[in-house]
Amino acid sequence: MEYRRWVCNKPSDITLERSEIYEIDDNEVLIKVDYCGICHSDIHIIDGDWNSRGFVNYPLTPGHEVIGKVVKKGKNVDKVDINDIVGLPWVHSSCLDCEYCLSSNEQFCENRKITGINTIGGYSEYCVLRREFAIPVNKLVNIDNWKLEEIAPLYCAGLTTYTALKKLNIKPMMRVAILGLGGLGHMAVQYSRTFGAYTIVFSSDISKKKLAEKLGADQFLTYDEIEKVGKLDIVLSTLPNSEIAMKFIPYLKAYGKISFVGAHINEISFQPISLISKNLVLTGNAVGSRIDLIETIKLSISNNLKPMVETFEFHELPRALEIVRKGKAKLRAVLKVS
Ligand SMILES: [Zn+2]
Ligand SMILES: [Zn+2]
Repeated sequence: MEYRRWVCNKPSDITLERSEIYEIDDNEVLIKVDYCGICHSDIHIIDGDWNSRGFVNYPLTPGHEVIGKVVKKGKNVDKVDINDIVGLPWVHSSCLDCEYCLSSNEQFCENRKITGINTIGGYSEYCVLRREFAIPVNKLVNIDNWKLEEIAPLYCAGLTTYTALKKLNIKPMMRVAILGLGGLGHMAVQYSRTFGAYTIVFSSDISKKKLAEKLGADQFLTYDEIEKVGKLDIVLSTLPNSEIAMKFIPYLKAYGKISFVGAHINEISFQPISLISKNLVLTGNAVGSRIDLIETIKLSISNNLKPMVETFEFHELPRALEIVRKGKAKLRAVLKVS
């Protein structure tokens, strides 16, 4: 049987192609994809921005915010049933045996496979999951009030920001600044508020003030108003550049932390003494593990912390990519695959 998938054969060249359905083995699950979120990382992969990092090889089918239904499963697969709702994040699978895998840090496994790079991602009518990575969302939480296109962005935008805040040890008495109110930022605000922290949203776009308040922000400021921010425990930067985040160093309390989740490659400079004098931490967060994903899904869906999405038809992918590339997406662009 043939199916359709978008294939990036070389940087900046993505075309719709037909492939034969892959025969799954005893430990695999075949899913028919319903929706796939478009993450800014997909743009970096398609445009060749990360080629110097050595892990992107063409041809590939991107997409790592995948949600769909189980249509076939191998005989060793016992956690999911036909028609269960399952998804795929950045980490497709891993060795399960190394120090990272054994400590629920499989996103750092040296033998991990990345969805959309090493395996077919969600810009495809069908995808394959490994048994150990198949989480039946419908059995985990009640999804009656959720559309599938709203669940897809939890697999990267949700997972990345939830895990970042969890690893920053966010607490109810803290003051947290979220930089940027796009695909990642609008989820980060909701998580920060759910953890009980006083949450200040920064954006250069004053028109996003109402949205920030709707998402639960305690305060909204533009970067020109940084001096009004007071003292902060955490700065989470979802921005596509890093200079702005470094301007927050003077506003951090002792032991304060700046975490980057916008995966850009531009360089920054800072004076080590500015970190030493207050024991500050500069850190980053790469997606999350399976347990982080389960927590993200449970927390988001049971508290109704919804991604705000704009959907595009399958054939509209090039237009959708251009909108995301230009930063013009209405929060999260999601591809309707089938
Ligand atoms: Zn992503
Ligand atoms: Zn491993």
